[in-house]
Amino acid sequence: MKDKQKENQKKKEKRKELIKTIVLCVILLICIVASAIFIYLSEHKDKDEKEIAYTELINSINEGKVEKIEMTNGSNSLKVTMAGEGEEKDREKTALVPSIQAFMEWVNDKVDKENVKIELIQNQVNPFLKVVDTIFDFLPTILLIVLMIMIFKMQGFGGDQGKVYGGEEGKETDVRFEDVAGLDEEKNELIEIVDFLKKPEEYLKMGAKIPKGILLYGKPGTGKTLIAKAIAGEAGVPFISMSGSEFIEMFAGLGASRVRRLFERAKKLAPCIIFIDEIDAIGSRRTSNSGSETENNQTLNQLLVEMDGFDTDETIIVLAATNRPEMLDKALLRPGRFDRQVTIPAPDMNGREAILKLHAKDKKLAEDVDLRDIAGDTAGFTGAELANILNEAAIIATRNNHEAIGKEDIESAVKKITVGLEKQNRVVSDKDKRLTAYHEAGHAVVSKFLPTQTDVKEVSIIPRGVAGGYTMYKTTEDKYYISKTELLEKMVALMGGRAAEKVALNEISTGASNDLEVATGIAKDMLTVYGMDDFIGPISLKVDDPYELQIFGDKVIDQVGNQVQKMVEDAYKTAQKILIENMDILDKVAQTLMEKEKITSEEFEKFFE
Ligand code: ADP
Ligand code: ZN
Repeated sequence: MKDKQKENQKKKEKRKELIKTIVLCVILLICIVASAIFIYLSEHKDKDEKEIAYTELINSINEGKVEKIEMTNGSNSLKVTMAGEGEEKDREKTALVPSIQAFMEWVNDKVDKENVKIELIQNQVNPFLKVVDTIFDFLPTILLIVLMIMIFKMQGFGGDQGKVYGGEEGKETDVRFEDVAGLDEEKNELIEIVDFLKKPEEYLKMGAKIPKGILLYGKPGTGKTLIAKAIAGEAGVPFISMSGSEFIEMFAGLGASRVRRLFERAKKLAPCIIFIDEIDAIGSRRTSNSGSETENNQTLNQLLVEMDGFDTDETIIVLAATNRPEMLDKALLRPGRFDRQVTIPAPDMNGREAILKLHAKDKKLAEDVDLRDIAGDTAGFTGAELANILNEAAIIATRNNHEAIGKEDIESAVKKITVGLEKQNRVVSDKDKRLTAYHEAGHAVVSKFLPTQTDVKEVSIIPRGVAGGYTMYKTTEDKYYISKTELLEKMVALMGGRAAEKVALNEISTGASNDLEVATGIAKDMLTVYGMDDFIGPISLKVDDPYELQIFGDKVIDQVGNQVQKMVEDAYKTAQKILIENMDILDKVAQTLMEKEKITSEEFEKFFE
């Protein structure tokens, strides 16, 4: 009897569960259909026949069929008025352009150089209205997402446990070590992890201890995520990733529970890889007790608990990435946690060539392109920046109707990424032009008299990005060590800009702010990092905590301040001296710059013959 009752009860419960699920599914379906309709309607309400394709727009402009183009700041959508008879309203079209900046450059060129008549109108958008507009655009999506989250919560699903690539289904990331160019030593160091994940039993039988956590140090874009994915890909195990900043939650305790769920999920999927990007966001040193800090501490503590809580035979390997190792809480680096560190450096000459080659595989390059040359011109660039350069070059080549990506396309892309786009349309007053011309000429002429400095490659007073002008130097081979003389001369070259303003125009400007910042930074590093000051001696003043500096006493600290000031001042004086002695050359270079706006290295060298 009792048993029967129980069974009935169970049946009832099951039926209830089923009904609940069906109702939820129906609600979900209705929501999806409703928002799909809403989105469709709002997207298509006034676009129908009025929208023209990008290529059609370009053709129409080329054929002189466009009368007016109106753009709104920050939007890729343009209002285009075609030339012709009849009401202006009927001739209005809309067009979407992939890159508004590139497009406008091109149109401006057309108007300036080819005398095509197009009226260009720039509308400013009220930022408040824009926000409201955006919210309305996304309203249905937001509502749908909120609903779905609610349903999922009711159903008792866990929510975010990190993104999983692959998983029980047996799919893996398709990244392999061959997709990571350069970094040979680093790959060698990590290959044993792959082997361990492939056949953990063998290692465990042998009694080998496998690291639980590995910290990847390196600038953003050096390929840390890529290499972590490649490890998972090579081993054929799931890759679960999460970014440290995602753990930082508004509500106390949530960060910690996310960490817990992340590891729960990993245990189910093991063997697998957990990747925590920007670990410094949670793992920075536990110091004060202010609001978000305590929250941070909870999250960090949970991470430590989890790291200690699983055994190596669970075959979970946690990879974490950061570019600020000095920020990390020391507790994270203890044995059994992230006790292995691998530095992922910015690529050297060979690495850059390898990365460029890899990313050039799917691109159409012209014969004149020598990737080794480009690698030589891009010292200090990361893998992400190099990939970006080739992509930009492809865009530039397409825009200029080139058959393939040529040498000059790549050079423009490099420039675009280093100094920002040339802004040929910005109106520069004659006075500004003169000041910029002397400033840049100053850098260039001064460096010519400094034996350790590389030759000038190009001087320009065409504004680019935030800079009013620029002086580019030829790069040489990568250097691992820089001498004291070289650093001092570098400071002199940096001060050359302001020195020229002063000696030629008896005026100084804000244009030198970045130069001053860099020069001051060099002086500071020379004293505190490289131990290059006679009084302070060869000691490092790089400390974790400013209080630690106190052990050196006020004398040392005062010396740093005074010495930095003196070194920058000296560099400034040296630059002035060089310029005063070579005033004729400075004048000639500046005059030429004002006329031609750009000087190549050959033209520059002629001034010294
Ligand atoms: P990080 O995680 O260090 O910030 P990523 O791994 O996200 O950098 O790199 C971003 C992109 O840059 C990659 O998806 C890849 O296209 C490119 N990249 C970076 N380093 C390399 C490399 N060594 N080889 C090939 N591509 C690279
Ligand atoms: Zn400058």
